[in-house]
Amino acid sequence: MKPSSLFPSKPTPTCTALSVLPLLLLAFYALRHHGQHQQHHVSSRNADHFRRAFLSSAANATLAAYLRALTLRPHVAGTAPSLDAARLVREHLESLGLETHVARFAPLLSYPARVSLAARFPNGTSVDLPLTEPGLAPDAVVPYHAYSPSGSAAGARAVFVNYGREEDYAALAAAGAEVEGCVAVARRGDLSRGDVVRAAASKGVAAVLMYTEGDAAGLGRAAGGVERGTVMRGVGDPLSPGWAALEGGEALGLDDEEVSARFPKVPSLPVSAECAEMILASLGGPPAPPEWTETMGFKVRGVGPGPTALNFTYQGEKKVATIHNVFAVIRGLEEPDRYILLGNHRDAWTYGAVDPNSGTAALLDIARRYALMMQRGWNPRRSIILCSWDAEEFGMIGSTEWVEQNLMTLGSKAIAYLNVDCAVQGPGFFARATPQLDELLIEITKKVKDPDNKEATVYEMWTKANDGIDIQRLSGIDSDYAPFLQYAGIPSVDMYYGKDFPVYHTAYDTYDWMVNHGDPFFQRHVAAAGVWGLLALRLADDLILPFNYLNYTNQLRGYVDILNNLLDGNISVHPLTLSIQALASVAKEVELEAEKLSAEQTTGEPGVLRRRALNDRLMLAERGFLDADGLPYGQWFKHLVYGPSDYRSRTSFFPGIAEAIWRSARMRSGEGQASIQHEIWRVARAIQRVADVLGGRPL
Ligand SMILES: [Zn+2]
Repeated sequence: MKPSSLFPSKPTPTCTALSVLPLLLLAFYALRHHGQHQQHHVSSRNADHFRRAFLSSAANATLAAYLRALTLRPHVAGTAPSLDAARLVREHLESLGLETHVARFAPLLSYPARVSLAARFPNGTSVDLPLTEPGLAPDAVVPYHAYSPSGSAAGARAVFVNYGREEDYAALAAAGAEVEGCVAVARRGDLSRGDVVRAAASKGVAAVLMYTEGDAAGLGRAAGGVERGTVMRGVGDPLSPGWAALEGGEALGLDDEEVSARFPKVPSLPVSAECAEMILASLGGPPAPPEWTETMGFKVRGVGPGPTALNFTYQGEKKVATIHNVFAVIRGLEEPDRYILLGNHRDAWTYGAVDPNSGTAALLDIARRYALMMQRGWNPRRSIILCSWDAEEFGMIGSTEWVEQNLMTLGSKAIAYLNVDCAVQGPGFFARATPQLDELLIEITKKVKDPDNKEATVYEMWTKANDGIDIQRLSGIDSDYAPFLQYAGIPSVDMYYGKDFPVYHTAYDTYDWMVNHGDPFFQRHVAAAGVWGLLALRLADDLILPFNYLNYTNQLRGYVDILNNLLDGNISVHPLTLSIQALASVAKEVELEAEKLSAEQTTGEPGVLRRRALNDRLMLAERGFLDADGLPYGQWFKHLVYGPSDYRSRTSFFPGIAEAIWRSARMRSGEGQASIQHEIWRVARAIQRVADVLGGRPL
């Protein structure tokens, strides 16, 4: 869809009585001029009033009802129940009187066709291992890894590879355990599923079984739950890298190198902790290192390989399917061409009560409350767009295709993207953001009541739990903020309640689990929706955008300090230091300018244009971190401060520099140093670009 058809203009009323036109124009002029003098004060007073109205209109029963309706059936992307969920969301938004849109795409998705796993134990018995979950409904998808290649292993010995990291394979090699040709059993740790399989394939493993360790109590992994998930590398439709997957549009072939590089080379399958235990407890071979076994819930003697042997088959089907993003647009009154986006995905591996529909329920409730405010006369200064994404679980596909399609529009008009995936997984507030948004996030959490302590605010309990402010950054590629920040350079936030939940991607992620464990009174939903909706209101209504680039500067300085400790003396971080200095002085000037313009009484055109000019610089500065050449991990990723790097490089900032450091350890020293220095220069130039945009003076 073209940007213009995304926001079709409303029909303009025509005046038939031409004779009254001059009179009307005169009246309009008078009103407009009168309005302009009042505008500043009236609108800020109104904004406060409506923010209070927003907070007081929260309703936990409504949130519960939304969640119930969204989670009646499993709704994996590309299936009929998933389309029903899209309809439900659209109809709800429409029923509120909001303007809605749907964007359809046709990406490559992946579903299981046939799976089997049998073990032959040392005592001679052969057993078909359980591959599904107790009580799994017939309309729910069996546990699988999306985009796993089809394949099989016959009579292959099982071997335990711990978390599947480099150091785990090194420990196996040191113990004399051969993994080549084996079926590796790995437990889920910090690596992504795809990275675990890729690492295993590089060691010559034939197939990978992956399990997630059980929780002590409650429904979930303890009850035989199995964690589904994608093993595709990168984000977005694999057949349309860098452009939108439109029906009838250009699509690469499955055998294209760029496409096949996105998928692992060996098949993999998630299994339950019980299934893994049956295999692992029967292995011989060298003993498992104590640091592996001390954190395991069951006993293993050896790491293998064998003597237990496995027959494994996975057959999957990759096919192009239709997905649906649903939008509601609340047009800004003064600056309709500036967008604040709130996004959450709707597709789920099963029922999705936590992941992602706790967030969808919050989004729908925000829509309800905004609609209520509109009935009472509120209109945002800038446009607010509520986005309900499809096919996130397959690799942020719905959001990525839409961002690719609308890159120019978003690049010139989007102010911030506010993501909520699992709004509620349990207790405790967590947030990730680009640093210019930290201060706003902190301010907002002071305005929202804590869900678990009536006397406190979200801010008080959040800082108490972390001994201060703890805002993480957005280098991950684990939710829909990735295309907005890492491809389009749009300042972003991601937030949620609860750190971890035992029913993650299992058939037990249900409404009942939410009511019994996650959020019995839906107060955490209320708090999540409160912070999310209020953030958007401030960004939509503040005269000067509440962005603080001094904070960004401080964060960058911290990164350079860490980097300095990692590097040897032959590599200079001086280019970074210089560009950060330039950014710091611009950020200080901009802060003064913002204070002045906020207090300024000048109304009418000069005031409006001065504020708009500053706001544009604040909005566009983040784009300076983008670099056309992208990252070593993948050219599609354009952001040089936040983005993915090779999993072995292990830093959460400057991904290009991090990967160059990791690679240089495997190069001749001069060559490695030159590539690190080049990546440092690239980041330094990016920071200088940010300073130039923010300062707004090309000469
Ligand atoms: Zn999710």
